[in-house]
Amino acid sequence: MRTTTRVAVIGGGVVGASVLYHLTRLGWSDVMLIERSELTSGSTWHAAGGFHTLNGDTNMAALQGYTIRLYKELEELTGLSCGLHHVGGVTLAEDRDRFDMLLAERAKHRYMGLDTHIVGPEEIRQIAPITNTEGIVGGLYDPLDGHLDPSGTTHAYAKAARMAGAEVVTHCMVRETNQRADGTWDVVTDKGTIHAEHVVNAAGLWAREVGEMAGIYFPLHPMEHQYVVTDEVPEIYERDREHPHVMDPAGESYLRQEGRGLCIGFYEQRAKPWAVDGTPWDFGHELLPDDLDKISDSIEFAYRRFPVLERAGVKSVIHGPFTFAPDGNPLVGPVPGVRNYWAAVGVMAGFSQGGGVGLMLAQWMVEGECERDTFAMDVARYGDWITPGYTRPKVVENYQKRFSVAYPNEELPAARPFRQTPMYDVFDAMGAVWGHQYGLEVVNYFATGDEPRFETPSFRRSNAWEATRREVQAVRGAVGINETHNFGKYRVAGPKARAWLDRIMAGRIPAPGRLALTPMLSPKGRLWGDFTVSCIDEETFQLTASYGAQAFHMRWFLQNMEEGVTVENVSDRVTGFQIAGPKAREVLQSVTRSDISDMRFLDVRHLTLGMADCLVQRVSYTGDLGYEIFCDPMVQRALWTTLWEAGRPHGMKPFGMRAMMSLRLDRFFGSWGAEYSPDYTAAETGLDRFISWKKNVDFVGREAAERERRNGAARTLRPFEVDALDADVHAYEPIWIGGEVKGFCTSGGYSHHADTAVALGLIPAEAAQPGLEVEIEILGEMRPARMLETPLFDPDGARLRG
Ligand SMILES: Cc1cc2nc3c(=O)[nH]c(=O)nc-3n(C[C@H](O)[C@H](O)[C@H](O)COP(=O)(O)OP(=O)(O)OC[C@H]3O[C@@H](n4cnc5c(N)ncnc54)[C@H](O)[C@@H]3O)c2cc1C
Repeated sequence: MRTTTRVAVIGGGVVGASVLYHLTRLGWSDVMLIERSELTSGSTWHAAGGFHTLNGDTNMAALQGYTIRLYKELEELTGLSCGLHHVGGVTLAEDRDRFDMLLAERAKHRYMGLDTHIVGPEEIRQIAPITNTEGIVGGLYDPLDGHLDPSGTTHAYAKAARMAGAEVVTHCMVRETNQRADGTWDVVTDKGTIHAEHVVNAAGLWAREVGEMAGIYFPLHPMEHQYVVTDEVPEIYERDREHPHVMDPAGESYLRQEGRGLCIGFYEQRAKPWAVDGTPWDFGHELLPDDLDKISDSIEFAYRRFPVLERAGVKSVIHGPFTFAPDGNPLVGPVPGVRNYWAAVGVMAGFSQGGGVGLMLAQWMVEGECERDTFAMDVARYGDWITPGYTRPKVVENYQKRFSVAYPNEELPAARPFRQTPMYDVFDAMGAVWGHQYGLEVVNYFATGDEPRFETPSFRRSNAWEATRREVQAVRGAVGINETHNFGKYRVAGPKARAWLDRIMAGRIPAPGRLALTPMLSPKGRLWGDFTVSCIDEETFQLTASYGAQAFHMRWFLQNMEEGVTVENVSDRVTGFQIAGPKAREVLQSVTRSDISDMRFLDVRHLTLGMADCLVQRVSYTGDLGYEIFCDPMVQRALWTTLWEAGRPHGMKPFGMRAMMSLRLDRFFGSWGAEYSPDYTAAETGLDRFISWKKNVDFVGREAAERERRNGAARTLRPFEVDALDADVHAYEPIWIGGEVKGFCTSGGYSHHADTAVALGLIPAEAAQPGLEVEIEILGEMRPARMLETPLFDPDGARLRG
């Protein structure tokens, strides 16, 4: 066994083996995998081995497609069989909503190059004849679906890695991971200590325990899961070809052929978390006792959907545990705040996702960043606020909803409310309908009168429509107020603060008393943030950005720390309000003794409002005359009383995130995670207008940005006015130009101010000619749309800047 290595991968399940292989594939051969028992000794050996591309997140779906296509290559490379059965699969829809979801997925697949098809009940009967299609509206057929041999596949990854120089050590338990002062690791095993530059935690069922060895909490939890293998079924073995997979979300089941019979697994409502206080170290190649009671309702449903099952005897029951994160996606990447420690854990679909997880992690480690936006599986999508008490109910909820329709406007209730500001009770009493972001309660809109306090989940326009419209009109017609609690906020200070910001941010760093908008770029020139930088004094700055990207941004800041500067995440230590609308200035003036008549657009100053000392900046994401006001949470309630009492005579109304997202569309402002993400560059999204080409600083990403500036971006973000019916654009709808899919939407919605549906989307740069007419596919309907040239509100900026 090696005693020094560049990378020690802990865990020899399918994920660890894939990470090891991908590291070698990208050129790192001095790498090793350490497995306490045989390969596959965690969840991997008893998996049903099914794989599919369907995933609500587009990047995850693309990585699942990569994983599935990789298996053939692995077989050719190693000569080992992965036991592949590419039999295709159909996902059923038994109601309109689920069919809408499949239509939306199919639309996304068009520009992703995935060859899925919408099928009707008759076609379903032909594809999967054992299916009772009574009550079925339609389905989505994916020729890539199939299953494999979990053990053969894991060994194929390991062999491919070994062939490229990696070492695989089995029967070797990792007992400690201790970091040295230089950031490298001593990995203490029962066969001796290995000195590793990097550690990868791929310990699957024991990821929590291995994480604890380094003082890290991973928000994941194991769940019990069961599938049943039947005796022989004549309708199956008499066929001349293998029966495809059938996913029946209504019955929470997945079914496929297994030998001469069937195999059917369930995501049952009576879901049970396993090993709540930790996975026992002596849990090995074993199963949990059968628990058919837990799945009796699902079995009964399956008898109706697949009547042959009723006559088939049970050959075996497989009941085992595997891990989930609160949203069901993996936890991958550099662990924030812990140098050279990487996660590849919480992978609940190792055979759909393992290849993509391995590839992304290897790119991150070897090349410094991944080729695509990995936020959906980034370990940094959760902050240090997360606890086992939050994780467990969320994981149970995710398991139960594994096959539920995922609506774009849905707010899941488990483990809420959790994080609240002092305004929670006030807004609740005013009719707040709550959403949540990064564990924080955020108002979506305010219901009034006898309007329900619940937004109906839907792909179409929801019952939040009227309330959103009211709130938009209040902002545009008078003045609106909402909280600034869900801004990510950072305090950057020190004698080198300006120089550091100049290097990290691509834009101009403003003079004292001013603020500026700036993109933050990755070394390869992709967007890693869109920040507002406010200069309070020459050595003190406040940064604001997306609330949900806090851990992501702090990880990058800390990786790039320098002497003479400090960066603090003050997101939850600073809160406040935004007031926006034509009356905002009058309201603000009425609560301060300072003269604000000379406060220009993008000015920042300290003001005392009523009794509260605040930092006030003249800028607003609503695109209107507006002010962002920041204060200490201890004085937030007093500040609310001051602003509310002053605002009411001017027609002030509180507004929520639904109105905010409508208002920003009027001026085509992008939003982090939609228009702005590591999938795109500044030039593609128009954020290059905030890059300071003049500054004499080699800022991060400059070379790549300069290159794109010289060559021009191949695609461009443009706004469209859409002739929508009862459904608006959410994200990733294909944009058809001249009868071909040429682009896709990044986000959209309804502009209540202009009374029109709006979409933002990326199209080829050469297509963006004035007067461009396109079609946007919304839930299977081709809707005409026109490219817009001027904002729908305040086109000359008179209100914003006046
Ligand atoms: C019943 C069932 C059916 C399933 N069906 C499917 C399916 O059809 N399709 C699909 O994609 N997924 C399926 N899964 C999920 C799948 O099994 C997991 O996604 C996958 O196995 C996770 O692999 P892993 O490598 O992350 O973890 P694991 O397989 O748990 O591997 C972790 C490894 O780390 C080792 N290890 C842990 N601690 C240490 C230590 N301290 N030192 C050294 N080694 C250590 C363990 O021994 C183990 O071998 C199913 C799961 C279950 C339970």
